[in-house]
Amino acid sequence: MTAGNAASHRHNYDRLVAAIERARAEVDDRLARFHRSAISKVRPDPDLLKLGAHGESAFGLWYEQRKETPPVDQPAFGTLVALHEALLNHIALLAGRAWKDAKVPVEEYDALLDKVRAFDELAGRLVRAFQAAISDIDPLTGAQTRQVMLRDLKREMQRARRSGTPGCLALADVDRFKSINDGYGHAAGDIVLSAVAGLLIESLRPYDSVYRYGGEEFLLCLPDTGPEEARRVLERVRERVAGQPIGLGDGRELAVTVSFGLTLMTPRRPLEELIERADKALYAAKQNGRNRVEVWRPEAKGA
Ligand code: GH3
Ligand code: MG
Ligand code: MG
Repeated sequence: MTAGNAASHRHNYDRLVAAIERARAEVDDRLARFHRSAISKVRPDPDLLKLGAHGESAFGLWYEQRKETPPVDQPAFGTLVALHEALLNHIALLAGRAWKDAKVPVEEYDALLDKVRAFDELAGRLVRAFQAAISDIDPLTGAQTRQVMLRDLKREMQRARRSGTPGCLALADVDRFKSINDGYGHAAGDIVLSAVAGLLIESLRPYDSVYRYGGEEFLLCLPDTGPEEARRVLERVRERVAGQPIGLGDGRELAVTVSFGLTLMTPRRPLEELIERADKALYAAKQNGRNRVEVWRPEAKGA
């Protein structure tokens, strides 16, 4: 996933999982009412007998509105919807027959159970996939987590080794963040942190990534980007954050700045060493007055 849509992805996936869970609950409810009617021979509810119930169900209506929007447009989702539709129709037919006929052939009932299993299995699989995607994203900031970061950075190093065009990585740290927490409270600090992360994510290019590295530190990965260009990108991001006061939700606004330490991802160096270089450059940015971008250099103090 790229930087530009990490936060909205989390939101989307939350809603997808909720929609699938609602569809499952709806199926369970219909099955329970069918069994109740068939076993105790009570008249089935009229809505249970209706063919095409899927189209009027909460899940069916939800899907109609989003079927062309990713990730709902994925084929697996279409399969789940088709199963839901077939399952509700099958329940309607068997509920009618169980009420009117003396007996529903066992093959018919077995076929219904097969549909139930297929629906449950696919719904479970989709929920697990979407939940895994959610767990890759830090809930406060919308940035990606450290676990994803290590996996992605290793991949980027491999790509650079093959292509010979390394990217850059940078550490970004909010300036004087402790004083924001101390002066305005931890909740205000959280708002600022989430807003800064949002600005970083929005301001970078779609193929860049933002990871939450620690408390108020973010690691930025700019694949296939040389140091000069990376510096220009980060300067633009830095200016944008500095120029946009953050609303605390109570009418107050806070001007916040961020310092950046940048380094080339030299493919022959271990990742840990590269992050250390970015950290040293970040330290230099803090020493040199904050709200600035520093690039790691071999001759830098302590390098
Ligand atoms: P500098 O300009 O040198 O970076 O100063 P600083 O105050 O930002 O640096 P320091 O590392 O001393 O302070 C970071 C603070 O960030 C300390 C910690 O309590 C706070 N913090 C870390 N994570 C969170 C969080 O999730 N929410 C809030 N509100 N505060 C956090
Ligand atoms: Mg810090
Ligand atoms: Mg800080």
